[in-house]
Amino acid sequence: MPELPEVHTVLEDLRRAGLPGRRIGDALVEWPRTVGGDAEAFRTAVRGDRIDDLRRRGKYLVFTLESGRSLLTHLRMSGRLYLQPESAPRTGYERVRLTLVDPAGDELRFHDPRKFGRMLLVDDPSPILERLGAEPLSPTFGTEVLTAELQRRRRQIKPLLLDQTVVAGLGNIYVDEALWEARIHPERPANSLTDAETADLAVAIPTVLRRGIENLGTSLGTGTSNFVFPESGPRARNQEELRVFRRTGAPCPRCGTPIRRIIVGQRSSHVCPACQTPPR
Ligand SMILES: [Zn+2]
Repeated sequence: MPELPEVHTVLEDLRRAGLPGRRIGDALVEWPRTVGGDAEAFRTAVRGDRIDDLRRRGKYLVFTLESGRSLLTHLRMSGRLYLQPESAPRTGYERVRLTLVDPAGDELRFHDPRKFGRMLLVDDPSPILERLGAEPLSPTFGTEVLTAELQRRRRQIKPLLLDQTVVAGLGNIYVDEALWEARIHPERPANSLTDAETADLAVAIPTVLRRGIENLGTSLGTGTSNFVFPESGPRARNQEELRVFRRTGAPCPRCGTPIRRIIVGQRSSHVCPACQTPPR
C-alpha cells in the first residue's frame, strides 16, 4: 500500500512528465466505483477541463482543475497512475483512462487491480482533506503538534499513528521505521510517552519519510511500486534502507539484537526487543 513517500514520488513523476497544463479530452471509465459510481456524469463533467496543478495531502493526490474543481485521488491498496501514450499496451486493470490533449496522444491511466482506489471529482476537496490529521512534512509539524495528538489518548501508539485523522500519510512501513528510530515500542499507550520520547518521535517521523522520498519510495514483493514510467523499471530503493520493516531475524542496525515480528492491532510489526521496551 502506497504511503506518503510513494504518493509523493508519483506526484513528482507526474509533474516531471508534464501533466500540469494538459487538457482532458475524454474520460473512459471501466469501473464506475473508482469515480464514485456515476461514470457518465464523471465523463461529462471532466471532459474539456484542464489539469492545472497537482499537490499532495497525506496519501491523497489532489489535481486542481481549471474549472476550480478537483480530482481527489487515492491509490489505496494497489492503485498506480501511469502517463502513457494511448498506443501503449494495456494490462486490463485500468479502471479510468483520461485521454489528454494539448498535445494529444497520451493517457493518464489509473491502474488498480484491487479496485479500492478512487478518483473523485469534487467542487471543493476541503471537507475531505480537513478530516485528515497533522501533515508530517509541514514546517509546523513538531513536538508541540504531536504532544497535542498523543497526550489525551490511551490507545497504543502504533494504531494511533496509522490513524489518518491523527497524522496523515503514515502506513505500516514508515510507522515501524519511525518507532524504531525513536526507540518506542508499538504497544506503548500514546499518553505514556515521555516528553523526550515524543520529541524523538516528532523528529523520527519526518526523518523516515524524507529518507523514503529521497529513495523514491519503498517497493516490496514483486511489484515495482507506483511509478508513472513502467518502462523504467523499479527505481524505488528505500526497501534496501529499511532498518526493521520485514527484517525479522536480521540484526538491529543499532545494537545487533535480532529483529522480531509481532502483531499489534492486527498488523504485523517489526521491533528490536532490546531498543524498544514493551509496556509493563
Ligand atoms: Zn536494537
